[in-house]
Amino acid sequence: MNVILLGPPGSGKGTQSSYLVKKYKLNHISTGDILRTEISSGTKLGKQARKYMIEGNLVPDQLIIDMVSKKLKKFDSVLLDGFPRTLSQAVALDLEFSKLFMKINHVLYFDVPSDELIQRLSQRLSCRNCASTFIKSEKIVCNSKPSCKEPELYQREDDKPDAISIRMKNYTDLTAPLLDFYNDKNLMKKIDANESINQVSNQIDKIMQI
Ligand code: AMP
Repeated sequence: MNVILLGPPGSGKGTQSSYLVKKYKLNHISTGDILRTEISSGTKLGKQARKYMIEGNLVPDQLIIDMVSKKLKKFDSVLLDGFPRTLSQAVALDLEFSKLFMKINHVLYFDVPSDELIQRLSQRLSCRNCASTFIKSEKIVCNSKPSCKEPELYQREDDKPDAISIRMKNYTDLTAPLLDFYNDKNLMKKIDANESINQVSNQIDKIMQI
């Protein structure tokens, strides 16, 4: 099974990914996590991507498409988190899937009101070790497996106010058109992602069992 998580920054795609990967035995491809690892490893791709990411802008399509295409060849069931984010990425994904005789089963759209998103992002801390995210004011309990003994928390550069506004605008201008693209293909399923983590997981389970 191949699933795409689509939704604005802060809509909970990463949080639900951890659940879905375990439950449905999917291979997680998070383009944001891959790029952050490339940056911390100091690779050429990391150096190219960094300037776009800290500003809150999208990394150029071709860099992302090449990066994801390499990953897709390794797996037969994937959870795509943060990809595609533009129409050209979506078209490139269709082409890549057809070459690999793979197909998209579900596109899950995480719907959250924009004021809630801004609140979530500005309160968010991320762990350098396992990429889990936490809310500033809450007790930190790492649920990743194996769990981090000492989560190393930081605020992402792109979770700061200026970058958040650019990311939201990019989402509206470049990513939101994908909703129609996948709706037209009858693949789009809308999730009310303003509910609790467990309620969102339950909504997804119902869809995955269809
Ligand atoms: P995320 O962790 O998904 O919020 O992604 C963090 C940042 O990585 C984004 O703001 C972009 O700069 C970059 N990025 C991640 N995925 C993509 C993508 N599919 N296309 C372009 N840039 C991306």
